[in-house]
Amino acid sequence: MRQEIPNELQKLPDIAYNLLWTWHPAAQALFSRLDPEQWEATEHNPVRLLAETENLASAASDTAFLEAYGAVVKDFGAYLEQEDTWMAYAYPGLQEPVAYFSAEFGLHESLPIYSGGLGVLAGDHVKSASDLGLPLVGVGLLYAQGYFRQRLTAEGRQEEVYEPFGPASRPLRPLLDEEGRDVLVPVDVAGRELYLKVWRVEVGRSAVLLLDADIPENAEEDRGLTARLYGGGQRTRIAQEVILGVGGVRALRAAGIQPGVYHMNEGHAAFSGLERLRELVEGGASFGEAREAVARNTVFTTHTPVPAGHDAFPPDLFGEFTGGWAESLGVSGEGLWALGHKEEEWGPTFNMTVLAMNLSAVSNAVSELHGEVTRDMWRPPAGNGAENEASETPITHVTNGIHTWSWLSPELADLFQRYSGGRAWRRMVQDPAAWSFVGEIPPEELWRAHAAVKLETTGFINDRLRLQAGRTGTSYRELDPDALTLGFARRFATYKRATLLLHDPERLRRILASADRPVQFIFAGKAHPADEPAKEFIRALYEAAEGDFAGHLFILEDYDMNVARHLVQGVDVWHNNPRRPLEASGTSGQKASLNGAPNFSVLDGWWPEAYNGRNGWIIGEAREYASQEEQDAADADSLYTTLEEEIVPLYYDRDAAGVPGAWVEVMKEAITTVAPDFSTQRMVRDYVHKLYVPRMAQAAR
Ligand SMILES: *Cc1c(COP(=O)(O)O)cnc(C)c1O
Repeated sequence: MRQEIPNELQKLPDIAYNLLWTWHPAAQALFSRLDPEQWEATEHNPVRLLAETENLASAASDTAFLEAYGAVVKDFGAYLEQEDTWMAYAYPGLQEPVAYFSAEFGLHESLPIYSGGLGVLAGDHVKSASDLGLPLVGVGLLYAQGYFRQRLTAEGRQEEVYEPFGPASRPLRPLLDEEGRDVLVPVDVAGRELYLKVWRVEVGRSAVLLLDADIPENAEEDRGLTARLYGGGQRTRIAQEVILGVGGVRALRAAGIQPGVYHMNEGHAAFSGLERLRELVEGGASFGEAREAVARNTVFTTHTPVPAGHDAFPPDLFGEFTGGWAESLGVSGEGLWALGHKEEEWGPTFNMTVLAMNLSAVSNAVSELHGEVTRDMWRPPAGNGAENEASETPITHVTNGIHTWSWLSPELADLFQRYSGGRAWRRMVQDPAAWSFVGEIPPEELWRAHAAVKLETTGFINDRLRLQAGRTGTSYRELDPDALTLGFARRFATYKRATLLLHDPERLRRILASADRPVQFIFAGKAHPADEPAKEFIRALYEAAEGDFAGHLFILEDYDMNVARHLVQGVDVWHNNPRRPLEASGTSGQKASLNGAPNFSVLDGWWPEAYNGRNGWIIGEAREYASQEEQDAADADSLYTTLEEEIVPLYYDRDAAGVPGAWVEVMKEAITTVAPDFSTQRMVRDYVHKLYVPRMAQAAR
């Protein structure tokens, strides 16, 4: 299948196999230029593009193409060999990598091994580590069918379509041993010996190792264990977590990597701590010593206060998958069980979050508010020796951010580059002062750049809506690029209350259908396949979009990172109304704000830290309610009122040239306040200072 690469373009495969291209617009432009149709048809997958395009020979003799190619090769070389990174001067001599375990990684739409914000955060973390020169290796699973693609039927029901991942045609390569053979890592899963193939994804200077059970060495039923992200029931889930935790540590060893810190992103990865404990006990340590040693350089991040987001396994299932573990850990069965057991809150189950907290010296939540909620949630019961005070538990917070270069539109990046006057803002994104040039951009220029991106986004959405309507046989209506456009896109978890907007249909109709100040809403998102109430939310929105609110409310199927990029870059306002305080952080509003689409949200997650009265709008009040009905009614009323009295009038208040001056001020304020503080560049630096380096220093003692 692989075709000859012409001599003139020998480095194209190297570019295709390093996901640095995902945040390098010139590299993407190069692939698109090589074959625009295949670039779209392959969903921006350069490895497939290079295998399938018929344009290689002509590109090799096209001087303009060769020039663009030469520039990208040079940029890649400079990036990969850069020595004066932030880490090199902040912590010179610190060489040991961070091992970052996560069940999902959202790196790009061409690698569908993520379901939502948790995965995208992991992907952005890996990318910023690379930018900063922090040595980091991600550890995850390769799902043979990835996460599902979403189709909506004519009745608005979600259908899940699974497609083979086909690793050979994606930007990743098998890890090979010295003799050039595939590395295979053995893991015992419920008494069955399994082998895992290890794949390596290059992400700038970082790497991600992905474990794959779908190989001929394994029995048919075992090959399916890593088929689907969050697929199957509790059995599959615990099997995947054994593979991720135990197999992940063994894959690092097989790759010759000795991490200085182990970071568990969510409880899914907590078995990694037990595997490291086993190694130490095998080397002669007692259980107690080994446990302390493991905790000393382990960091755990918890991502949700929603109980269903914490895996808890019943005793028989736990016993089946961990048979023999207690013995090799040098502890009694009760001692092992106690590591993940918290009877009062969770009943007779083994809880992976409890295990993760017990095996790490410090845990963190992902926003300030989530930190408070998490400390309340995990307050140690009285009488166990710990202080019975929420503030005494070792749970800190590092607020989530986004990888600026993966989410900023190329149009705005160009505009910013022009007005930054050569200042070092690209390397200093975490520094608010580095963004002050945004204030100097003439309002009409920022407005025109936004309008151009919006037109492109509207075209992208309309194309998709047309296909969607054609497939379901429903009528096609298109978005109006001149109307005030609000975006709402994220996983359809019920606490995110996607249908809150429909609370008072009459009032909503008056807002949307105004003849001179029209408003439209675009929704997108997947519901977990087993989450029927969330699917019902999709259906209700779909019914509204096909019925009473046709032409004003739109629902787009198959949300992924590509759709996310278009939406956050091209809508006017980003809308979010979770049931406070259940949104641990949220990041999509950060992506939109970076692109000048101010956030309009409940004061939950990251938003209370960012909102300053001038950089967006709030929904509801920062308080608790006696009932969910009361909370919904109050928040819906606030949503409508702010739209009616503030957002719509401000957006349509134009000068003679058609520019909404006061609106552009809000856009600028959103960009300058959100871009630095809510970047993963700020976030990863916080992890380094607060959590990684102190752990490394302690481990060395
Ligand atoms: C950013 C992102 C999310 C996270 O959205 P929230 O609103 O923070 O929950 C989910 N899915 C995709 C594809 C994203 O890009």
